[in-house]
Amino acid sequence: MLYKEPAPIKDRENPFESMMSRFNIAAEVLGLDEETYNVLKSPTRQVIVNVPVTMDDGKVRVFEGYRVVHSTILGPSKGGIRFAPDVFLDEVKALAAWMTWKCAVVDIPYGGAKGGIICDPYTMSAGEIERLTRAYTQSLVDIFGPDQDIPAPDMGTGPREMAWLMDEYSKTKGSTVHAVVTGKPLVLGGSLGRVEATGRGVMVSAMAAMDKLGMDPSKSTAAIQGFGNVGSWAAKLMAERGVKILGISDVSGAYWNDNGIDIEDAINYKNAHNGRLEGYKGAELMDPDELLTSKVDVIIPAAVEDVITIENVDKIQARLIVEGANGPTSYKADKIINEKGIMVVPDILANSGGVTVSYFEWVQNRMGFKWTLERVNERAERIMNESFERVYAASQKYNVPMRIAAYIVAIDKVAMTYKYRGGF
Ligand code: NAD
Repeated sequence: MLYKEPAPIKDRENPFESMMSRFNIAAEVLGLDEETYNVLKSPTRQVIVNVPVTMDDGKVRVFEGYRVVHSTILGPSKGGIRFAPDVFLDEVKALAAWMTWKCAVVDIPYGGAKGGIICDPYTMSAGEIERLTRAYTQSLVDIFGPDQDIPAPDMGTGPREMAWLMDEYSKTKGSTVHAVVTGKPLVLGGSLGRVEATGRGVMVSAMAAMDKLGMDPSKSTAAIQGFGNVGSWAAKLMAERGVKILGISDVSGAYWNDNGIDIEDAINYKNAHNGRLEGYKGAELMDPDELLTSKVDVIIPAAVEDVITIENVDKIQARLIVEGANGPTSYKADKIINEKGIMVVPDILANSGGVTVSYFEWVQNRMGFKWTLERVNERAERIMNESFERVYAASQKYNVPMRIAAYIVAIDKVAMTYKYRGGF
């Protein structure tokens, strides 16, 4: 199973500029001095590698790859590796910065990083991908390390690639180093609870936001876009807490039931049908473009970026948006959402349950001791709730929307740490 870690808005706006637009507003509210502003906006390290790989036909192909370490102020940098044909340096830079803010929001001792290789993993054999992963690891062996820079899966990579990365790194060091990478298979030091961690965090932040808005979950309705890892887990856990899920969707279409969809049934259907809802009979088909503007109390975009834009934001009827996906809302739509008084739990807070449990994986690897599922869930829920409260308090204190408040919390923490460390 592949999963994606934090990704910036990939809309018509440049990803780095989109991230910086929000960063700049928060920096201004905080009154960040020029020196710190310049330090925080510039990536610490940008590495470009070219790795030769022997392909199955015997020919050698050279692949270009990147690793951007945005910040190591809070601790070793953390961030996924993306295998995609269109990955480019500016995108990796934005993704790396996004990781810095996300880790700071949930108060885990990591900086931000991201990596990528220009390749199309869906047209490559497993052997070719393995040789590519190992060659990339070799070329970055001095960058990676459990105390330096800890990769994870992103688009186009998953536990299999992380296992190869760990093995290659360990061979170079002459001993098994589990903690050099997270998102590993369970048998190789992966953490219990990682699969559902992001959806669980989405549910926890939705419950916290509903509480602030005085909404009773058992009298509330929701629509969820995307029924993959994040969307289906968020739907299941929200339904367990009494929220009636009226609409769900995936690439095959959108599905609606006025009486509430039986989420367990929909998940079983999806699992039996190649991960897709196509042909699901427990709900009526609806126009996918109408899902996020339908009459529900909560919407959860949990699929792709740039789905709430100036095109549809006027029609949104929900009181609460919880961003399961990365970058589902364009910068231009932010203003109208705020004018309409809709609360948004922003991506860098709402979907940070994933990186939180990745952090737990690293902690367990370093302790050499596996936590129970209950312990993982209980600690992750506590971190999500505390982070929500921090961001909510900042939004009240500075009278800003939750998104800007999340950036304020993150930037403030990194800036303060930078000052205590005495500069570099
Ligand atoms: P996934 O591949 O498991 O699921 C994606 C789902 O979205 C699938 O159901 C797919 O059919 C659906 N989808 C794709 N395009 C769609 C469209 N245009 N309209 C409606 N549905 C569509 O991916 P995931 O891991 O659930 O990730 C979803 C989002 O959450 C991504 O933005 C990802 O970056 C973000 N995220 C994931 C994690 C994680 O741990 N999985 C962590 C942080 C952020």
